[in-house]
Amino acid sequence: MRPGRGRSRGGLGTLGRARRRLRDGRHDRDRERTVRQQPLTLLDRAQRVEMAAMEDPTFNRLLESARFGINSVHRLTSESVSVLSALLSMAATGGVLLTLSPLLLPLLVLIAAPRGWGAAITARRRRTSVMAWLQHLRASQLIAQLLTQTYTAAEIRVHAAGTFLLHHFEQMALASDAEQARLAAAAARTKIAASAASGLALAATFGLLGLLVSTGHLALAAAGTAGTAVVAVRTGAANVAGLLSSVNALFEEALYVGDLQTLTTEADARAIPTGGTDLPERPDALHVENVTFTYAGRSAPSLDKITLTVPTGRIVALAGENGAGKSTLARLLCGLYQPDSGTIRWDDVDTATADRAQLFASTVLLPQDFFHWPLTLRAVVTTGRPSHHDDARALAEAAEFAGMEALLQMQDRGWDTLAAKGFEGGVDFSGGQWQRIGTARTYLRATTAGADGRRPFLVIADEPTSALDPAAEVRAFDNLRRLAGQGATVLLITHRLAASASADLIYVLKDGRLVEQGTHEELMTADADQAGAGSYRTAYLLQAQQYATELPGPRPPIEPAERTGR
Ligand code: ATP
Repeated sequence: MRPGRGRSRGGLGTLGRARRRLRDGRHDRDRERTVRQQPLTLLDRAQRVEMAAMEDPTFNRLLESARFGINSVHRLTSESVSVLSALLSMAATGGVLLTLSPLLLPLLVLIAAPRGWGAAITARRRRTSVMAWLQHLRASQLIAQLLTQTYTAAEIRVHAAGTFLLHHFEQMALASDAEQARLAAAAARTKIAASAASGLALAATFGLLGLLVSTGHLALAAAGTAGTAVVAVRTGAANVAGLLSSVNALFEEALYVGDLQTLTTEADARAIPTGGTDLPERPDALHVENVTFTYAGRSAPSLDKITLTVPTGRIVALAGENGAGKSTLARLLCGLYQPDSGTIRWDDVDTATADRAQLFASTVLLPQDFFHWPLTLRAVVTTGRPSHHDDARALAEAAEFAGMEALLQMQDRGWDTLAAKGFEGGVDFSGGQWQRIGTARTYLRATTAGADGRRPFLVIADEPTSALDPAAEVRAFDNLRRLAGQGATVLLITHRLAASASADLIYVLKDGRLVEQGTHEELMTADADQAGAGSYRTAYLLQAQQYATELPGPRPPIEPAERTGR
């Protein structure tokens, strides 16, 4: 080799390698981008669907199976390449066999077909199992989470809930192992049957090959030797088997990609509609007319032909026993669910066809089960108002409104304290402190405008003081009155009837029906009837009795021995 040529070849080789590396690098980056993008798209679709879809087990199962689909999209590409290369190899050996004898080709298919069939059966069985066991998988993941999360740690220890959960987890793992064993046994049986059938076909092929050689029908001149023919048959059979297995894998991955597409279609169909009729920024009143609503999976309606009006700028209290439908009505008012029948109007605009984004933008929701977001205090309080993330004044006002100052002073990092125990620098707060944090967020949202310029006027406070100390509770109700004084409509759901006493209007629900309405004074003079009238008065007096100054006679003092338990 001449040195000059050698150098030039070496140079070209290096260039080629560099180009290949560049191309592979670009391909990897594209792949990484898709890998990143697809879960994001999936999560984005999930957060846009209606509440009813989020509570639907079928939709949840679809969400889970679609997650497999994300990886399948990439595998689909590599399986397509495998199918293509198997086809090319087959074409090559097929050509050789065709030269030897056209009779060999169908026999080749007979050799490979049982293995292909076996692989297809096993894959289908696996897929059926995955779909049937998804719920099981989700449940065991949930149990594992419950066992390892900080928010469940106390109950797990004190109530020994860990033993119970662990037992269930173990049972589920055993059931899952049994299913895997069943699948493995079935796969082994299928494989034995397929291999036996394939072996028979191979024997028949070699028999035919022998016959062709002995009768001089095999074109040995073209093939070279009989050994070449044997190698060609074996290679051809391996190629067909490879092709069938790749087609099968392709088919399996395509099923999961199909799930991803089904989820996309389903999520789009169940997405919260965008656009719609404009809602007034400050309607005079919200009108609920003959509204009935039943949760999916329930037979009885949680709201039954409710008709009421919520005037703007007032405090309207919803009272009633547990499960009466108060929170459900609030969820419908803020657009989380749609009535099954009846209408909710803002002045004369039906919210069913209204722009839901406007509806949400006009509402502040402080739910009863306010989620303890594992974020910094700053992020929790400015959720939904990211533009105020660094607005020291707005944050200070919110803290003052919610009585959060002392809580903030106690933290070394103030607003940047991470409310996530178990993480580096993370802390947790008491129930009442969390309620104050929730109140601060409510205030910040209620007193500032969102990105679309709308400032919420409807404040829904569902049991906002259940964990507050008496002074904080009194202050919280005063503050809600202050918000109403600034023009907000406060929908107050509370079992503290002393607080609802100062509401402008009280609606009393019972078993999903509206049974009483009026001011506190009106309701306190209502006569009781079978339909539920008088229930407010009864409940109010019952609560008031607990604070009666005349306590039952003095109890005997506790003896020192009793105190120490000796
Ligand atoms: P409480 O005073 O206990 O908070 P509530 O008056 O707010 O009660 P809701 O939460 O509205 O009552 O519940 C009304 C009925 O609807 C209850 O029977 C409840 O079990 C049912 N329910 C509430 N939420 C759901 C849900 N997401 N799915 C199914 N049923 C629900």
